[in-house]
Amino acid sequence: MNSIKIHEKDFEIFLESESINKRTRLMGIQLNVDYEKRCPIFIGVLNGSFLFMADLIKEIELDCEIDFIRVASYHGDSSTGQIKEAFGLPNNLKGRDVILVEDIVDTGLTVQYILAQLRAQEPASINVCSLLFKPAALLKPMPELTYVGFEIPNEFVVGYGLDYNGLGRNLKDIYRAI
Ligand code: 5GP
Repeated sequence: MNSIKIHEKDFEIFLESESINKRTRLMGIQLNVDYEKRCPIFIGVLNGSFLFMADLIKEIELDCEIDFIRVASYHGDSSTGQIKEAFGLPNNLKGRDVILVEDIVDTGLTVQYILAQLRAQEPASINVCSLLFKPAALLKPMPELTYVGFEIPNEFVVGYGLDYNGLGRNLKDIYRAI
């Protein structure tokens, strides 16, 4: 299927599952090398990262732990802007090697917020592993963003965990809005 409709919006194919899977395998190989002899904890950010995390973790041959967190955003007043809150963050990360797994880094605000919470626990290391990254949308540099599947233009995408108003997470391929 080269184009689809979700709610009222049209989308066209952007990244096929074969390329996603191939790239994910390579990212897994890189992580196996970089974390050799360590026991990292992978923390996925729900909901979007669930498929990427599942496929990535199958490539990992290290001893490792897996956890998930959820971040909610609220609209604050004009002085506070958007308020974020994280749920389910493990509280025993001191001295651990943490790999934060995201579906997409857009403005980077979500990951920046989580990084601040993680740093407070003094882990040994923190790296971010995101399937997609929109460099043009990033608001401030993110040195922790070490593992990126695909750099993409500043366009809205859906599928493979990413939704449009609740739908589309189950699509095998990734589509972009047209
Ligand atoms: P950020 O805080 O980096 O701006 O955005 C992070 C979150 O916004 C992502 O985890 C994702 O939920 C959502 N998001 C950003 N860009 C897209 C996109 O192109 N498509 C979809 N479906 N969600 C996006």
